[in-house]
Amino acid sequence: MEEEGLTLVLRAEAKVSTGHPKTKVTHDLEKVTEAILRYEGVFELTSTQVVTEREKQFSDQEQKLRTNMSKVRHKIAVISGKGGVGKSTVAVNLAVALAMHKHVDRIGILDADIHGPSVPRMLGLTGQRLRVGPPGAFPASGTLGIKVVSMDFLLSDENAPVIWRGPLKMTAIRQFLSDIVWGDLDILLIDLPPGTGDEPLSIAQLLPEMDGVVIVTIPSKVSQVVVKKSVTFARQLGMPIIGVIENMSGFICPHCGEKSDIFESGGGLKIAEELDITFLGSIPLDQEICEDADRGEPFIVEHPNSAASKSFMEIVQKIEDFLKHEEKKR
Ligand code: ADP
Repeated sequence: MEEEGLTLVLRAEAKVSTGHPKTKVTHDLEKVTEAILRYEGVFELTSTQVVTEREKQFSDQEQKLRTNMSKVRHKIAVISGKGGVGKSTVAVNLAVALAMHKHVDRIGILDADIHGPSVPRMLGLTGQRLRVGPPGAFPASGTLGIKVVSMDFLLSDENAPVIWRGPLKMTAIRQFLSDIVWGDLDILLIDLPPGTGDEPLSIAQLLPEMDGVVIVTIPSKVSQVVVKKSVTFARQLGMPIIGVIENMSGFICPHCGEKSDIFESGGGLKIAEELDITFLGSIPLDQEICEDADRGEPFIVEHPNSAASKSFMEIVQKIEDFLKHEEKKR
């Protein structure tokens, strides 16, 4: 057995004319490797690989994604079975609540709703652009240093629709994870569009280390049916379910204080019990939640003593407990 000395790396990039299939080029290159082995002193060729430019770009980006995401301690996706249940509102307020809860400057939100991004508006960041520097593009910074990336920052006009098919959306989401300089974060929340389409599927594939998903629903029976789809989807993709949040859970009249269950009540808890998942809590309907979102002011900062804000803080504690518990198991 020869004694191993230096390992030399020979890098070569070859432009190959069209019409030469990769298998033929690989075959021809075997002659090159034979020539290297004939070199005096070389006794073993430890690796050879022929990759196309596209494959190289892909693997470089994959490497960047892994390096970038290794600096983010926890990744949580916020999902819902259907639109309009307040998923983005909940994602934004959870982010703010987490930032207030010992994570100032350490929270990020990826608005992965390519077709209907609404996180920037809710955090007063509409019209912002991503600043680009040598290491990549930097997220916008909002309340309590929350880092935000959204398709909205790339559109020339807020009203411009994005008309993209699945593969393009996957590419955009991959770039959001690999080419954005997120920096060191405690938690990255990913606000996914409703349903079980391309974006949640992309996220599940790109972030297999995801800590879990939070499912947002409203109490009505129609919503309960679609929640089951979200739960099945998450389970099939092997994403842990942190729990379910019931939003728009009752309305307390600001004048008489009486509670009205506009979308019925208790649906979230019922479905959680039925599907054996954790019920994280309920957020009431509150006019101020809607008004603050439209003004771009985080509700939980503006109205910290409201019933909804208290509920958000309790939910955040449960999420933290889940993360701690899972971390201990690793
Ligand atoms: P989704 O992301 O599920 O489509 P949004 O978060 O965009 O839903 O919310 C839809 C609308 O409902 C927004 O105008 C938002 O301000 C409002 N909304 C959400 N949750 C509440 C709530 N608990 N009380 C009052 N308005 C709410």
